[in-house]
Amino acid sequence: MQRRCVICDSDQGPRVAGINIDVCGLGHVTYAMRCCAGCGLVLQDPAVPPELMARHYAHFAPYNAFAADEPPLTGTSLRMLTMINAQSLAPGRVFDVGAATGGMLFHFRREGWQVGGSDLSPEAIRQARDINGISLTLGSCEEALTDQRDLDLITLSHVLEHMYTPRPALAAIHQALAPDGHFLLETPCLAEPERCAPGIFSMEHVNHFEQITLTRLLHTTGFAPVSIEIGGDNPLYPVITVLARKMATPQPDTGSARDNNLAFCAAYTARDNALWHDVQTRLHDVLTPREPVYIWSAGVQTSQLLARTDLMQHARIVGLTDRDPRKQGFTLESLPILPPDEVIAAPHRILIASYSFAQGIAADLSARGVTPERIVHIY
Ligand SMILES: [Zn+2]
Repeated sequence: MQRRCVICDSDQGPRVAGINIDVCGLGHVTYAMRCCAGCGLVLQDPAVPPELMARHYAHFAPYNAFAADEPPLTGTSLRMLTMINAQSLAPGRVFDVGAATGGMLFHFRREGWQVGGSDLSPEAIRQARDINGISLTLGSCEEALTDQRDLDLITLSHVLEHMYTPRPALAAIHQALAPDGHFLLETPCLAEPERCAPGIFSMEHVNHFEQITLTRLLHTTGFAPVSIEIGGDNPLYPVITVLARKMATPQPDTGSARDNNLAFCAAYTARDNALWHDVQTRLHDVLTPREPVYIWSAGVQTSQLLARTDLMQHARIVGLTDRDPRKQGFTLESLPILPPDEVIAAPHRILIASYSFAQGIAADLSARGVTPERIVHIY
């Protein structure tokens, strides 16, 4: 699917990455990243078709509210609360778009806010109500905000990068806010290539912002940033957190991040290639040729591992497994996704393919009686 830039509408600019991976439940997915000639935004173009993405979310988007305890105060929630408190925003009515199970709203409510929100997932809405006692509206940002007026604060946490067409959503946010209302958002940030995990251009993220393009999008949709923070504690990439106040009218902005983003993509690609080269070397060091082995996790990081190395040729992958039972019965590169118990009970070694959760998975396997010799680390 061809896409025009969501900020400046240009369809020009160089391709900075091309991805072709097999994704559990979807089959082979291809898309590319383009750096917009007009504003420098890095966006999917051609993009994963929205219907395919919707199927992915419907089947595999995990919602895990914590039933026994209160929801954890995530890094994002903490940054957002700290930012509004630093600007001395008094608690009022907050609406969280893409609220998932209401984990962040739980903590806003505790600080005196009247909370509301929306999500696209009926399952998330059920958990928000039953577990956190928070009532959410089912629907898109535009749908959910139709009946909302004079809100003091609207939050958008890790949603903007998923939106194929953010402008109508931002218009709905602008309209639903009080004249002196604020908009608080967080999204991944193209910065610090040396700390980015492999595969930051993930299938789910159709837009990649940084300070220049995000500011341009906000100015031209009627918001003036009052506080911007880049960094955070996300293990995969830095994030940008912005608090903006509503302006009466949009402001023109012609800023371009083109040079910065092309430099970022070049540095990131070099690092990514070097990382996969190291993984490939390590695979050959730790696995004997044609050794039967299982792969733990069947997510997109595994899809990348299979696409970027010769693991399938070097070893004999017996099967994969994943903690998400919904993935069992599907295949990845024609390999079966098996129940974890079956993999644990078998004699073969288990290769951990997850980059971000490798330590947690290893600890989990140890707790289930898997000896350290059977666990293969590759990063
Ligand atoms: Zn553009």
